[in-house]
Amino acid sequence: MKTYFSKLLLLLAFSVILTACKKDDDASENDDRSENLLGLGQSAEDLLSDDIYKTLVVEIVYSNGFRPEQETIDNLRTFLNQRVNKPGGVQIVETVISPPEGAPYTTQEIRDIESTHRTRYTNGDEIAVYVFFANGNASGDTASSVTLGTAYRNTSVVIYQETLQSLQVDRFLVEATTLRHEFGHLFGLINILDDDIHPTNHEDPDSNKHCVVEDCLMYFASTIPSTLPNPTAADIPTLDPLCIADLQAKGGK
Ligand SMILES: [Zn+2]
Ligand SMILES: [Zn+2]
Repeated sequence: MKTYFSKLLLLLAFSVILTACKKDDDASENDDRSENLLGLGQSAEDLLSDDIYKTLVVEIVYSNGFRPEQETIDNLRTFLNQRVNKPGGVQIVETVISPPEGAPYTTQEIRDIESTHRTRYTNGDEIAVYVFFANGNASGDTASSVTLGTAYRNTSVVIYQETLQSLQVDRFLVEATTLRHEFGHLFGLINILDDDIHPTNHEDPDSNKHCVVEDCLMYFASTIPSTLPNPTAADIPTLDPLCIADLQAKGGK
């Protein structure tokens, strides 16, 4: 059983890489949402700096039974306050929806759910991020390989919460790590738009858009529970100095 389970988690890594880092250039819906229909990484500077947007609003959307733990929400707020430069602050708002149908979800279905249920868009001096905690799994999942989360647009993330809840792991640790990791991709890590200005190239040659530093949050395996040091006492992986330098180069802290 134990062997089986660690094999499952190992395969998870590859799935997270392939899906979390896919660029998406679907920008054809209606106008006042246009700021939120850009490709992954394209709002990194707007999210991190205070040049244009003074406040960051994170809308967490879920149906009953799929809310992340309160500790996870509080932890995300702490992480964002550490990294983004927003004098107006970081607000996390929650939207409870009736359970969408159609799981397992394709990326198109995830986009359709966003289009129906997202209520907060970038507006004035507020930039908005949408995070859907899905009541189902990803369509590409197999018996041995599942996806935990994907950042699929400039301000859009899906966390496959049903999948996450089915794993026999520390819920808070995996929720918080997966969320922080996907925000790292929204912030442009690693080199998502080939504009990484840090002189040391720290993109992992073996894992596209992930960090070469093994204990970094953006290392490809950082969202794999079995690779965390000690599940009962482990901390969430932090960003290494190279990743932090990239965020600072784009106006972050
Ligand atoms: Zn990733
Ligand atoms: Zn790193």
